[in-house]
Amino acid sequence: MSQIREIKEANDIVEIIGERVNLKKTGVNYRGLCPFHSEKTPSFFVSEEMQRFKCFGCGASGDVYTFLQQYEGMTFYEALQYLADRAGIKLKKIAKTPEDDQREQIFQALDLAAEYYHYLLTKHQVGHQALAYLKQRQINQSSIKLFKLGYAQAKWDGLINYLHGKKKLPLTILVKAGLIIKGKYDRYYDRFRNRLMFPLRDHRGRVVGFSGRVLNKVKEAKYINTPETLVYHKRQLLYGLAELRSQIKKADKVIVVEGELDVIASQQAQVNNVVAIKGSALTKEHALLLKRLTEVVLLSLDADAAGVKATQKAITVLKEFDLELRVIPLVAGKDPADLVKLDPHRWREMTKQSLSAYEFLIQAALKKYDITNAQGKKKVMKELALPLWGIESKIEREYYLKKLATSLDVSLSNLSFDLKRFATKEMAAHPSPKDHSQPTETKNLSRLAQLERWTVMLLSVAPSNILGQLIEDLREIEQLSSVSSWFHQLIGAMLTQSQSTKSTKANRLKINLGRAARSLSEDRQQIIFDILADPKLLRLIEKIEFDKEWQKIKLDLESALLHQKRSQIIAELNQLEHQANKADIDLEKERQLLMQLAKLQSKT
Ligand code: ATP
Ligand code: MN
Repeated sequence: MSQIREIKEANDIVEIIGERVNLKKTGVNYRGLCPFHSEKTPSFFVSEEMQRFKCFGCGASGDVYTFLQQYEGMTFYEALQYLADRAGIKLKKIAKTPEDDQREQIFQALDLAAEYYHYLLTKHQVGHQALAYLKQRQINQSSIKLFKLGYAQAKWDGLINYLHGKKKLPLTILVKAGLIIKGKYDRYYDRFRNRLMFPLRDHRGRVVGFSGRVLNKVKEAKYINTPETLVYHKRQLLYGLAELRSQIKKADKVIVVEGELDVIASQQAQVNNVVAIKGSALTKEHALLLKRLTEVVLLSLDADAAGVKATQKAITVLKEFDLELRVIPLVAGKDPADLVKLDPHRWREMTKQSLSAYEFLIQAALKKYDITNAQGKKKVMKELALPLWGIESKIEREYYLKKLATSLDVSLSNLSFDLKRFATKEMAAHPSPKDHSQPTETKNLSRLAQLERWTVMLLSVAPSNILGQLIEDLREIEQLSSVSSWFHQLIGAMLTQSQSTKSTKANRLKINLGRAARSLSEDRQQIIFDILADPKLLRLIEKIEFDKEWQKIKLDLESALLHQKRSQIIAELNQLEHQANKADIDLEKERQLLMQLAKLQSKT
């Protein structure tokens, strides 16, 4: 057995996924909310039997390796390594690709760089000025340690000398890690110089990059960040997530702030369920990461025009993910770090007094326009039309509409009328990619393909002691060899099981659909799992009387197969008919086909 297979069989996909996604057992499968797209009703299935997962909403599917790759962002090799470790199997090096090697080296470089910067800040005298800066901002020792803050020297080759000169890491790796830059004439230099350094960690806690802040007011950018690399993806980075994840889980809500120092300061003020989007936009990737920890998100972004816009955009992004959304409004010019410095108690209190996202949007729109005239009122209505009309609960919607009507001094009925009209027009113009938790389309399958699927479903619920008989039943069906090849192979595999069952009288090797399926190729396994987890078939299977249904499917399968054979013969005959000069052999073939057809006709 290959190691890939051995490691896969030594782990249970239900356990691996169950540690990450809330799964409930339903029938033979486990079911939960899909971690790969936003949905409100669970269409994500995991089968213990088949050791596979599948989402009928977004189509994500695969085995335990695919899951870890997609969910944890692991490479195949990393997933293999992870599962081998869990099962206590020693992994042979063979599965490693050159890219895996490179990633490992990049991670090593980033880790060493974090150590190096941290050492310079905390132990070396070049770090004094940076330490003084942190002190002035009231960042304490334990924060410096928790976030492993550092300092990059005011030199062009400080890090190069350490990582390349001393640790012998190749320059190309340091470039790929985003730590150094290759300039003209093949000259290399450090990307971060004379900056306070913040290691950026992915959700698994590994350093994937850095941001560096200037110490004094200078003309350069206040912050510079690692560019996109093999391991750093800006869209997925939430500063503080790795360091504060257990506090976020415990609080069961998360506060989203703008900057690194806001996270650190807030955490010092005992508000430690906080992450930063680092001055960029909140993405779907962020939303999926947050949803793994909690369902309640409180946005506390800057109060300037850009911040309000960012909040509005974040609300539209998060809305799709069925998260409870609130806003902790800030006063312009005072971010959480500033507030904590002035009065930690004040920030703590503010986090307890959040507004609902709708309340926030209404307030922001009312502030933006002059509502003493009709034009201004209309602008407010237009800006709020989509979000307010999108509120599902009518009671909740009416609550906000009433508030808005009062503020605008218009009647509720007129406001509702205009708002609905405008929202409908907008939605028609920009249809949103809505929750598509509809089962995968199977309508276009042929009759025979549908019967094959139904047969597999029936076999999956049949009592195991009669499976042997059922397989024999299927074998008696005429023309059975014309079924799809995956179906044929599955029956073959089950037949092999039933024969070895007979020979080993102890009945040790029971016939088992899942085990038979697992002996097929990956793509065939997927076909079978797709059937076993199909919500439509699962609904149907609950309503049937097994014996009756089995008698029926045998007849239906046979008739569909005969029908298919008949069409084939007719097609062949048609072809022969159009042939110009027929040889004897053609005439003989024609005769045989006609005989076959006659035989078939008598049966159908
Ligand atoms: P600080 O609290 O560090 O003094 P600030 O409160 O003035 O900074 P902003 O300028 O509002 O911070 O920036 C907020 C966040 O946006 C920063 O923490 C940083 O993550 C990011 N940021 C700021 N400037 C840049 C830049 N030039 N390039 C990339 N990211 C930046
Ligand atoms: Mn700040």
